[in-house]
Amino acid sequence: MLEYSKEKLLILEQQLLEKYHQLQSENLQLDLTRGKPSATQLELSNVLDGILAGDYLSDDGTDTRNYGGLDGIPEMKQFGADLLEVQPSEVMVSGNSSLTLMYLYLMIATFFGVRGEKSAWNREESKFICVVPGYDRHFSICEELKIQMIPVPMKNDGPDMNIVEDLIKNDPTIKGMWCVPKYSNPTGNTYSEQVVDRIAKLPKVSAPYFRVMWDNAYIVHDFGEPQPLANIMDKAREYGTLDSMIVTASTSKITFAGAGISFLATSPENLALFKKRLSMMTIGPNKVNQLRHYKFLPDLNALRNHMQKHAKIIKPKFDLVLDSLKQGIDPSIASWTTPQGGYFISFDTLEGVATKVVNLSKNAGVKLTPAGATWPYQKDPKDTNIRIAPTLPPLAELKKSMEVFVVCVNLATVQQRLTTKHH
Ligand code: PLP
Repeated sequence: MLEYSKEKLLILEQQLLEKYHQLQSENLQLDLTRGKPSATQLELSNVLDGILAGDYLSDDGTDTRNYGGLDGIPEMKQFGADLLEVQPSEVMVSGNSSLTLMYLYLMIATFFGVRGEKSAWNREESKFICVVPGYDRHFSICEELKIQMIPVPMKNDGPDMNIVEDLIKNDPTIKGMWCVPKYSNPTGNTYSEQVVDRIAKLPKVSAPYFRVMWDNAYIVHDFGEPQPLANIMDKAREYGTLDSMIVTASTSKITFAGAGISFLATSPENLALFKKRLSMMTIGPNKVNQLRHYKFLPDLNALRNHMQKHAKIIKPKFDLVLDSLKQGIDPSIASWTTPQGGYFISFDTLEGVATKVVNLSKNAGVKLTPAGATWPYQKDPKDTNIRIAPTLPPLAELKKSMEVFVVCVNLATVQQRLTTKHH
């Protein structure tokens, strides 16, 4: 399409407009915005209800219905330790959202300091490295806490570490870095061992109290053979940088997104300080739910079997999206990722086209994540990136949504070509 004459582009525009208007007349109401599990996926965990059958006691005899146990019941701590490949003394188990734990950790670092008042980030300017495209909610946390964001490009094997190291060495106001190391949101790539190794070493050249927010949200969310991810905690232990690692995960996309459990792993000293602050806010987490989860998924084997059931539901949806893109879009006008797990596909248009695609889709009844959402301050400087979330809609709806999406990408690109100087 890039080489088409103006006349050819005008003809193509007419054809696409015809299709577009036809789709508009269908009065669709479809949504490809958030990476939520579908109803069918949620049903996989319905047995959680009633699973305790009246027995509320945890392994150590704790009555989970009562107050207390700030860092979770022992059997779930063990599960968390196995999942994150850390020691039980390095992990705590909490409520339904790992995002809450991330927010709390950064809020405490900002206002109270990770090692007392003098270390509070808000005593001076503070900045964070944000890999782009990235997860919008990480960026809103920084915005809320007035932590300036510095975008760093994602490469196939993780963040561009040359840039990260240069930035960190030269700017002591950089306090940390967001990472989604496996099946990253939205690109779906997994950090290589070399990248993990370099990240584990960052605190050696950073300002003190540097924190790596290691959001392992998609740790077991494989479609097939798991992609290997090096253990950052092992490396950090080796390099003496454990205090800088804040590792999180949750069962949001394993069991119930609204009623799961979350994990935070870090050094025992960090954990003790974090729990002290946490104890100002709560007397303990929902331990009944932790026990329910333990009965349902007692070990990693059970977890793996369960995740295969998710994959069976999700994989065909990703295949459908990827097939639609392959069949409907010339690779000269866009590029997209082919993840082996996780919840998203990252799609890039030509420069200056993404917003137009999102608007056209919206006017044809298909909601997409706003263009720019994958960038700090919602500003994608080249206006190219769109995050596609295939999991929530049933296959038939997804098919229709992709039909609309493909027409919108082509139409927006043709219209952009027609308005460029070249023609
Ligand atoms: N982290 C990432 C990278 C995510 O994509 C999501 C949800 O989309 C979350 C965290 C949210 O996790 P939780 O439900 O545990 O708060």
